[in-house]
Amino acid sequence: MSRRLLNRSGNPVVSSPSSSSTPRRTTTALPEYEPPSCPLDESARRALGELSNNRTAVPYELQLKESLRTLGSSVGDMHERLRYQRERLTRQKAAREAKGVAASTADEDRLKAHIDQLERDVEALTRDSERAVRELVDHKAELEDEVAVLGDLYTHAATQQPPPDEASLENENGDIEYPPVPSTLGAFRERRQGKLEEYGGMSMHQRYAVNNDYAGFKKLWHDAAVGEDGPPLPDASRWFRSDGQPVMSGIGDEMDGSDDDIAVAREVVSLKCPLTLRVMKEPYSNRNCKHTFEKGALLDYLPRQGAVQCPQTGCSQSFARADFDTDFHLNQAMLRRIHRAEAAHASDEDLDDDENLEGDSELAVRASNRRQSRQPKRERR
Ligand SMILES: [Zn+2]
Repeated sequence: MSRRLLNRSGNPVVSSPSSSSTPRRTTTALPEYEPPSCPLDESARRALGELSNNRTAVPYELQLKESLRTLGSSVGDMHERLRYQRERLTRQKAAREAKGVAASTADEDRLKAHIDQLERDVEALTRDSERAVRELVDHKAELEDEVAVLGDLYTHAATQQPPPDEASLENENGDIEYPPVPSTLGAFRERRQGKLEEYGGMSMHQRYAVNNDYAGFKKLWHDAAVGEDGPPLPDASRWFRSDGQPVMSGIGDEMDGSDDDIAVAREVVSLKCPLTLRVMKEPYSNRNCKHTFEKGALLDYLPRQGAVQCPQTGCSQSFARADFDTDFHLNQAMLRRIHRAEAAHASDEDLDDDENLEGDSELAVRASNRRQSRQPKRERR
């Protein structure tokens, strides 16, 4: 990854393929690395400081963020589509049975065959997406570690003793003999390796289940699969099996058939921020108490210094503004609900504007959106 970063920033690490129409770029081979014979001087330390502060990783971070967002919303879309088709089949079946017809209709059989295929596709794609999300989480951790290692090196170098006066280093022959100097590059590699090993030694739970990006993905996936009135997402401790394999299949597997959980937690989710009392635009949640707020209002609420109690009445968690980025994350699943509610509201206002619908499944999605968002009206023909 670091090699590509260098390429992006324009340093010709590897010569680019040249053609007759583009000016030829030449590559200068780097000289063999020589261990330093003196400690880093002021300008070298400054350069190290700049290296630890540089922003070359930003485009990567943005790409990772965008990829995570895209994977989350595609998995959400797939599972929603599958759920709507299943609900549609149930309705067709119920309607037929209400008429006293025992044999399934040709429409039902077609839909059933379609759902079977869709289930297989959705399962395979979800498996790939889940793996991809974990890879993205790994890449993100790697970038963060790299920055941390460079920062460490700089701090370490900055606190090192300056090189001693040359006069004191003269030996009997009048030559200057520097004491051996630790290699900065060696230290970088060593710390980098240490971070890799530390990450490699973490369990699946530590790496992913407590990671905001993974948790956000899991929530989107779950909400889409079970619907807004479905059982809540199981606790993060149940997202990975003891052999480290992710728990993939929907509710059956994850819920362990425990009815208690279902009964307890049909959480009523409000799309409104408890601080602004308005529908949120940037819903930010945290892992500790799961309360969600409008980002701007929350930032206004948290004082510049010290910690305060969670703004949700009766919640004993406390938060500090300094930890905002680690404690809080954009709640993609909530954002999705908000957008869906808005879309349903818009389609209520313009029920006849259906020219963009592509076939039956779109219709089913729309119809289902409407049903969830308002009181049933008399059907329009
Ligand atoms: Zn709270």
